[in-house]
Amino acid sequence: MPPHLRAAWRRTLTVLVLVLAAATVTGLVIGQVGAVLALAALGVLVWHYWRLRRVLLGLTVRQRWEPGRGHGAWNELDRLLHRSQTEMRARKRRLLDMLRAYRAAAAALPDAVVVVDRNTQRILWFNKAATDLLGLVHPRDLNAPVSERLQPLPLARWLAAGRNAEPILDAPAPADERLRLNLRLIPYSEDYWLLVARDVSKLLRLEQVRRDFVANVSHELRTPLTVVHGYLDMLEPADFPEWEPMLAEMRRQSQRMTQLVEDLLTLSRLESRDSLPEDPIAMAPLLATLRREAEAFSQGRHRIEVHDEAGCDLLGSSKELHSAFSNLVINAVRYTPAGGTVEVRLAREAGGGVVLAVRDTGYGIPESHIPRLTERFYRVSSSRSRESGGTGLGLSIVKHVLGLHQARLSIESTVGQGSVFAAHFGPERALPRHEGEGAATPAAADAP
Ligand code: ADP
Repeated sequence: MPPHLRAAWRRTLTVLVLVLAAATVTGLVIGQVGAVLALAALGVLVWHYWRLRRVLLGLTVRQRWEPGRGHGAWNELDRLLHRSQTEMRARKRRLLDMLRAYRAAAAALPDAVVVVDRNTQRILWFNKAATDLLGLVHPRDLNAPVSERLQPLPLARWLAAGRNAEPILDAPAPADERLRLNLRLIPYSEDYWLLVARDVSKLLRLEQVRRDFVANVSHELRTPLTVVHGYLDMLEPADFPEWEPMLAEMRRQSQRMTQLVEDLLTLSRLESRDSLPEDPIAMAPLLATLRREAEAFSQGRHRIEVHDEAGCDLLGSSKELHSAFSNLVINAVRYTPAGGTVEVRLAREAGGGVVLAVRDTGYGIPESHIPRLTERFYRVSSSRSRESGGTGLGLSIVKHVLGLHQARLSIESTVGQGSVFAAHFGPERALPRHEGEGAATPAAADAP
């Protein structure tokens, strides 16, 4: 027990002893010791009950506590209660100030913020931007089911996914159809979710301007390039023997520029689409074409192997998938020194999906470069890529084409040993193969 409490106790007990002693003396004087003592004890008891009642009342009525005056255990209790009450009030005020500051910050955010009860999926709070972007009205929409209030948005399935909900990247704003929103669901505690909606209209517009610009520039470059290319082709080397090296370089560069423009146009076309026309693709003839292309590009410098083990065809856009696979195969030949092997394999995957893998025994790619390979114009070695005629857009095109087929590209590589670029398709893309409709047997496809 702290010393001041011990002193308070001592004083209280001293007062009790003094009262009892005084009662005894008075009792002796008037010859009624028992009665006076009992009266005194009763008085002490009543006084203690009165103080206890005061404490209980003070605790329930929540009035401001008067600090105890004087000494003794009850006054000490008063002082302690006064102190803890003052501290608690100060803490509560600080917490309230903090809460108000957080609310004010959330309210002032340019993004719409809605606090949703996870269990009932009802709206608990929202800020001003939620009114502007999502059309929520205060206080009408408080406690309303969120998916019902934000009806035009496809929220019901999204909310059901909860923690695993992928952001909705582009949705029309319920408050204004011209605005485009990006929606995220952030579970921030066991009981609450934060629905954050950001206005991305400006960003999407800029992205569209960028896409249009690239597409227009590429388109405008096409005609002058064709003219230059045509004239260069018309110039006979025999007429200008001393210009021959220059003419050859000019032809090579104009060819490269034409390829660049074609690739940029392909990318713009792919970017502007949400889906592609889908048809059954006979994979055996496609594999045979890939083999021919690889052999033509390799000019006999590599061993080309094609393994057709899937026994199924693919559902997709034949033109775009051919271009994507062709990019992978040509890259494999391009980045494999003479004498190496390029192997194309079509196989089934464990879950029923299909994979087209292109393996080479080439230069390989350092691990740090792999995540960035599908970015436009990203090259591991610009000089090697340029020397071999690459545009730096091939893998970007592959990624877009696969994305439009809900497929993904995997890349594994070891420097000095080679790489595997594989396109993985879901089971819904696998079609039973109809033998005889131009389909080759695995043996025929494997033939050198
Ligand atoms: P590029 O036209 O330059 O080949 P891509 O987009 O097709 O452009 O490829 C990007 C880069 O990835 C290439 O410059 C090259 O460095 C690397 N790369 C692609 N395929 C392979 C491969 N099979 N082996 C090694 N490096 C590769």
